This record gives sequence, C-alpha cells and structure tokens, in this order.
Amino acid sequence: MPTNTAELAHAEWGPSRLAMLDECLGFLPDPEGSEWAERGHRIDTALGACIDSNGWLDQPIHEDDKAAVEYGWDVCTSLGLIGPDRGDVRTQVRLDPGIPDGWGTADLTAWDDWGLDQLVIVLDWKSGWNLRRKGADKSVQLADYAIGALRAYPQARGVRVVQIELDQERWTDAAYSVEQLADWKLYLEDLIARAKAAKPGQYVAGDACKYCLRAKRGTCPALRPLIEQAAQDDSAPEPGTLESMDGKAIAHYLQWWTAVSISVEKNLNALQAEAKRRLGLDPKGVPGWRIYQRAGRRSWADSDEKILASLRSFLANHGGSDAGAPSLTTLVTPADAEKRLIAFLGKDKASKEKAAKAIAPLVTQGVSTVLEKES
Ligand code: SF4
Repeated sequence: MPTNTAELAHAEWGPSRLAMLDECLGFLPDPEGSEWAERGHRIDTALGACIDSNGWLDQPIHEDDKAAVEYGWDVCTSLGLIGPDRGDVRTQVRLDPGIPDGWGTADLTAWDDWGLDQLVIVLDWKSGWNLRRKGADKSVQLADYAIGALRAYPQARGVRVVQIELDQERWTDAAYSVEQLADWKLYLEDLIARAKAAKPGQYVAGDACKYCLRAKRGTCPALRPLIEQAAQDDSAPEPGTLESMDGKAIAHYLQWWTAVSISVEKNLNALQAEAKRRLGLDPKGVPGWRIYQRAGRRSWADSDEKILASLRSFLANHGGSDAGAPSLTTLVTPADAEKRLIAFLGKDKASKEKAAKAIAPLVTQGVSTVLEKES
C-alpha cells in the first residue's frame, strides 16, 4: 500500500470509486480530478488542520470555505471530538479494508472512549450540493471505510460512521456491527467483480457522470443519446402536465434532465462567478445585472468559553441552568444557539426578541455577495 497522499487518492478500487460504481458500473475516475474535488480537498485540509490544532478561528481558511469549515467544526464539537483532553482523534487516516488495491483515506477516525459500546468512529465530510443522499447506513463509501476501521481497531465491537454534508449543514450517522461489515465486504467484492465484467449496455446515467472520464471525453454510450436528445428536444413537460404522465415517462425525463442539469449547473456557476468578477470591476460591465452585498452568516465574536459563559449567565437570569439547557454545554452556531434559546424561553414574539437580543452582542455579522437581474 502506498504511503503518500497523492498515490492514495488513486487506489484502483478506493472507497469513492466504489461509491460511483454503485451508481454506474461503467464509471471511470478522471485522473485530473475536478473543481469539486479540488474544493473538497481544500476543505479536508482546513478541517484536518483545525481539529489537529484544536481551534478553527486561527487557521487560514479560504473565504468560500469558512461556513463549511465552521459547520464541520460544530458537528465535531457536538460529537465530543474536539478538546485538549480528547485523545486518539486522527485526521486523514489511511484505512485498508482488505480488498486488493482498495485502500482509502478517511477524513477522521477516533476511538469512541466516551461511550460504553466500544465503537470506532469514522467521519466523512462532503462538500457541494448533492441532488440525492443515501444516508450513512447505505453509503458504499462509508461501509468501505468502516471495514478498514475495524481492521485498524480489531478490538472494536463495531463502527459508527458519521457523514457530514458541510454545505447543506446536516449530518447522519449509522452504526455497523462486525457481522454487518462482513456482509458489506462481500457486497463490495461482488461490486468490483460486476464492474470488471460490465458491458456498455449496463451503464446508467446519473450523478456519477459528473466525475466520470467517459462523460468528459464524450465517449459514454449511455450519456450521448441523452445529451443529443436534450439538445434537440425542447418539449420538456410543463409542470401542469406532470400529473397525467405515467411513471415510465417521469423516469425517462428524470434521467435525461439529471444528465443535462450536470453540465448546465457547471456552466451556470462559472458564468455567475465571471459576472460577479466583472461587475466588481465595473458596475455596468454586465448589462442588466447587478451585484450587491447582504447580511451573511453570523460568527461568534469571542472565545468559545466566553460565549458559553454569557449564554449560561443569560439562561440563569431567565430561570434556567445547565441542567435545564444541556444543549448549551458545547458551543453551536449562533443560529442554532438562538433556536435553542427560543425553545427554552418560548416561541412567542417577546421571547424571540429576547433571544435575538441575547445573541446580538456575541456575534459578528458576515456579508455575502449576491448577483441579481435588474428589474
Ligand atoms: S458517463 Fe457513462 S459510464 Fe460514466 S458514469 Fe455516466 S453513464 Fe456511467
């Protein structure tokens, strides 16, 4: 097994490739990666550095990634993985599931020494906006990491995997027993055998095309007719006619619109970025469009300890205590803290205002740049 990160990214049957093969047996990884992979790698590195040094506010983080890194940090905190006394938390961990040429690198592993279940925790963070999500318990990629983690911690009774969708600000987790992972290993071995034997007639266009070399080269027999059809066919169903369509017709349109939306989304993102850049240089640089700034994400304006102390003192002054508000024993995002204060105080207007006033002096307000068509 290779040891350097560049080589590790290219294991022939690595976890991310297996996840794509589970979508389409014809998937071929693009050796040049993609813009999504590049951003994902940037976030992995930033989050890893934050966790390794027990602090995210002092790290140099790309402006576009700050919100995602903050969310990843929040979840790790709520899982009890952050803190000077927290031992055995390893970021960027090489795991070998015992599948030939199938090693991969998990974002984080930890021995779950807080619980009594003797589980290993494996974390995987995802960036970007996925059309679909399978959940941690159905993810081929996470099952593969879990098998590798069990080999790395043979004394464990099982593995808890946590998937964090950073841009969508949600996370899911699942626990696998040793027996379940034995079944998953058989499934993965069968998947590799099916992929090796797959014929073009078995390829299925979908989300995996976004990362597939066959799509990039335009050589995929499954994708080409869909793209050609989409280019010529402007008879997309009107929303009002959807109810009268049968399931087969809906499946047909879903399939080719999903394929087309991948390239549309990519071009649209690039166009929006270029329009913002030009409008920043010249307000009339893109006729009919404008950019403006609006309130963005809020961040805590002081150290975690001081913020927690303020929130606790607010709760104490309003008849609460740590026991009455256990969710504030670790720091969450300002929006989440405000929600919890409202849940504690009551949902009426006065309580909401009181919660907003309690949070306001503790945060700094970010800004985000918005592109808009002029009316
Ligand atoms: S481009 Fe073709 S082979 Fe690649 S994932 Fe899409 S359908 Fe499968």
